[in-house]
Amino acid sequence: MIVAKMELAPQGVYNRDLRNSLRILVTGGAGYIGAHTVRPLLARGHDVIVVDNLSKGYRHNVPVERLYEMDIADTAALASLMRRKQTDAVIHFAAFIAVGESMRVPERYFANNVCGSLSLLTAMVQADVKRMVFSSTAAVYGNPQTTPIPENAPIQAVNAYGESKVMVETLLRWFDAIHGVRSIALRYFNACGADPAGDLGEEHEPETHLIPLVLRALVSGQPVTVFGNDYDTPDGTCVRDYIHVNDLAQAHILALEHLMAGGASDQFNVGTGRGHSVLEVIRTVEEVTGRKVPYVIGARREGDPARLVAASRKLQTKLGWKPRMSDLRRIVEHAWQFAGKQQMA
Ligand code: UDP
Repeated sequence: MIVAKMELAPQGVYNRDLRNSLRILVTGGAGYIGAHTVRPLLARGHDVIVVDNLSKGYRHNVPVERLYEMDIADTAALASLMRRKQTDAVIHFAAFIAVGESMRVPERYFANNVCGSLSLLTAMVQADVKRMVFSSTAAVYGNPQTTPIPENAPIQAVNAYGESKVMVETLLRWFDAIHGVRSIALRYFNACGADPAGDLGEEHEPETHLIPLVLRALVSGQPVTVFGNDYDTPDGTCVRDYIHVNDLAQAHILALEHLMAGGASDQFNVGTGRGHSVLEVIRTVEEVTGRKVPYVIGARREGDPARLVAASRKLQTKLGWKPRMSDLRRIVEHAWQFAGKQQMA
């Protein structure tokens, strides 16, 4: 039995030779972080299927034979698919992510993110699938009192998106206590960069994230707006913890293998512990591309905390995770390489 075999793997160690194939269902696997996780899962020999309704994800991000175009709200279809595929575990990415939109139409976020996750968990129980890695967010901490933020900091989301993820973390607690579904929630900071292979990267529509917007400004000549330069930070612009999407993907794989090796439910931050300001990001883009970034200083964006940096020791010590690509220069190089391929396409 697969679980028994996995128990032979040393706990908390990323064992590259581990070749026990798991059958994994990835929701939202055609999206940005999901697709970057599917790739190394397949490379490690796991058998992966993707459930995505393609409302945000892209067909071209996933091998066609692995994609099931399905909505996570469809409990019966999910349960039937998991039974048929004898799924061992789920990695759950499918969710809406735009903070601003969540404050205009919160119902969309609670329906898709919370009710969708409830439907998925219900299907898992029906199909007897008892392991989940969940894509959570640093937004669960709201405006933190201390940085770097530890996992035991108060949970106090300040927007509907963050609250929807808090609610799913709550569901996970009860599904563990009552149904024995073991889960790891990964609370991400700023996911960015692209697979160095160059054919997979960030393609949000509309795009709201800093690095792709700065790269677009370079290409279009239309200035990007820096949201405020009067924060209490060294250069007055907001500081964030930028994590390369491939390092983030690795955290999911470690979390999954930890659960399969008998690990208990838990929550981990995924960040580097280092912060960079908006102007530092712009400067790094200029260094990497050798071009001047057109930008203007604008008003603060509502709800932006001055500084968000993760304390990520727990993930490093408990799961043996190490950020390997999350140097800002490298992140920008990979994002720029992907942007170049996009323009040529
Ligand atoms: N930002 C900015 N201009 C933009 C987009 C973002 O100045 O057009 C800033 C934003 O205020 C934040 C940082 O860049 O301090 C990262 O924002 P992003 O939306 O990428 O991620 P978030 O921190 O909101 O998750």
